[in-house]
Amino acid sequence: IALNRAKSGDRGRWHYYTTDMAAATRSRLDLLHELRLAVEHRRGLELHYQPQIELVSGRVVGAEALIRWRGGDGSFIRPDLFISLAEYSGLIVDLGAWVFETAVEELRVWDSAGLTGVRMAINVSLVQFRDPLFLTRLRAALDKTGIAPNRIELEITESVAMLDAETVIAILTELKAMGIQIAIDDFGTGFSSLAYLHRLPIDRLKIDRAFVRDLGSARASGASIAQTVIGLGQSLGLSIIAEGIETEDQAQLLAALGCPLAQGFLYSRPVDSATFMAWWKARQQS
Ligand code: C2E
Ligand code: MG
Ligand code: MG
Repeated sequence: IALNRAKSGDRGRWHYYTTDMAAATRSRLDLLHELRLAVEHRRGLELHYQPQIELVSGRVVGAEALIRWRGGDGSFIRPDLFISLAEYSGLIVDLGAWVFETAVEELRVWDSAGLTGVRMAINVSLVQFRDPLFLTRLRAALDKTGIAPNRIELEITESVAMLDAETVIAILTELKAMGIQIAIDDFGTGFSSLAYLHRLPIDRLKIDRAFVRDLGSARASGASIAQTVIGLGQSLGLSIIAEGIETEDQAQLLAALGCPLAQGFLYSRPVDSATFMAWWKARQQS
């Protein structure tokens, strides 16, 4: 365990073995075992949806699907805890397929309930891109439901987009050809090479909530980074969405900076499908 720890860090590192390393490894293994059962039996898995809003009009233009996993004791296990485990173990391939099949199916449910025209943003991991069946399964999910590909947006994180240029560019190019939209999630937290970013066939940058949080606060850096990303998007011809909007002030500042789209607790937390539909209808009427 200590050797693995040392190897996973910078070169030339060393670690002493301690008993809590073994305990941490064991609890990760237990969690992995539970997750494997959950994915195999589609048990305790749910998608929640968070609306995406056009700032000028207040119109709902889409939703982001966020996975929720209810563990054996009924409480939710946070995606931050299990997504990395799912990636590391390869389970993300099946889990991710379940996510996009469920999310695409959900659009059909919304359409028949009168919530027409919204787009669905789905998070995908680089590991899924390496799965030879990824595109086939995605296409099958779209064909089965008749959902237009341009209503699907895949979110890949900035760090992931920068990892494996050949794979990423090849897959993104195919996705674009299918008509699917692509957004770079958590933008500004990784260290994008701008030259490389320019080569990626993407539609949108998603400003990380760390920069939104600092908007309007004494720390001016957040505002200047948000402003820079908006400017970068405009000059590269990309759309922008800001995530993590919690206050009316942040929304107004972003609108003033020219940010077209927003997502955050100010509008709604991620909620289950029934709650999302009720929220959307109530908003239409007000
Ligand atoms: P993300 O894609 O950047 O998702 C945004 C996260 O910010 C979500 O956390 C959401 O609940 C939270 N959030 C939204 N609005 C606000 C706000 O106003 N304030 C604050 N403080 N937080 C806000 P969540 O649902 O815990 O997801 C965490 C991460 O897990 C996601 O970050 C995404 O990277 C990953 N994830 C979630 N679902 C999936 C999935 O289906 N597949 C993959 N590969 N990753 C997923
Ligand atoms: Mg996301
Ligand atoms: Mg994000």
